[in-house]
Amino acid sequence: MPKDQTVLFHSTIFGPVHSRRLGVSLGVNLSPDDGKVCSFDCVYCEAGYNSQGPGTTGLPSREKVKLQLRDKLSFMKSAGDPLDVITFSGNGEPTLNPDFPGIIDDVIALRDEFYPGAKVSVLTNSTRIFTREVAEALRKVDNNILKLDSAVERTMRLIDQPTSKEFTVERVVRGLKEFSGTGIIQTMMLRGEHGGMTVDNTTPEEVDALIAAYKEIKPREIMLYSLDRSTPEERLRKVEKPELEKIGRRIEDATGIKVQVN
Ligand code: SF4
Repeated sequence: MPKDQTVLFHSTIFGPVHSRRLGVSLGVNLSPDDGKVCSFDCVYCEAGYNSQGPGTTGLPSREKVKLQLRDKLSFMKSAGDPLDVITFSGNGEPTLNPDFPGIIDDVIALRDEFYPGAKVSVLTNSTRIFTREVAEALRKVDNNILKLDSAVERTMRLIDQPTSKEFTVERVVRGLKEFSGTGIIQTMMLRGEHGGMTVDNTTPEEVDALIAAYKEIKPREIMLYSLDRSTPEERLRKVEKPELEKIGRRIEDATGIKVQVN
């Protein structure tokens, strides 16, 4: 049986967490504290499936994010703590928060005030890049990290389970071209089973389709990663680092775009 829930962040500002890859990262969760709101329902989502519901706290307002982030940054600064990056992630898709564009402006202003050397990163599933205000906000941050898990329609629908039928690979690749040279495309590599169907975006055909999409999009960088924590679909298997690195080299050779493997 799929688990109802894996791990939720129970606050709007969380961390800081230390990682070898990002350094010291402070998280911003624009989704509820006790539920999930997303336009995808990925089989690997660490926050669990959408069926758990949106919880009771609602989406945090622009004012709430600003106040809580100011408090946290001011506290960290007076304690002499370091900060490398402010990262938007959390219990769902950050760009679904209607205050997202204003929140980006506030977060950039607070970063400039307290930690001008820190970066601002947004992890997005790319479903809202067609909305002008969202795309403009994404262009303002240092790292907009845009999801593309498969360039094969059937596989993308199986892995990401988009809630809208209008979201297609063809459309998102077209939209992602607007971030050519600036966006970072992030691809989750995995294999296993879901709903009686085989899930595997590491086959030569899948990687060829991704290479063709990356060549069209021309992102600044490509990030490949695999499973890390427990997932709502339990019949998924991690792609180990040596294999990820091999796939990464193939993509880099074919596209000339830098591939980072995590
Ligand atoms: S896009 Fe992110 S938050 Fe949404 S279901 Fe997928 S992994 Fe979870």
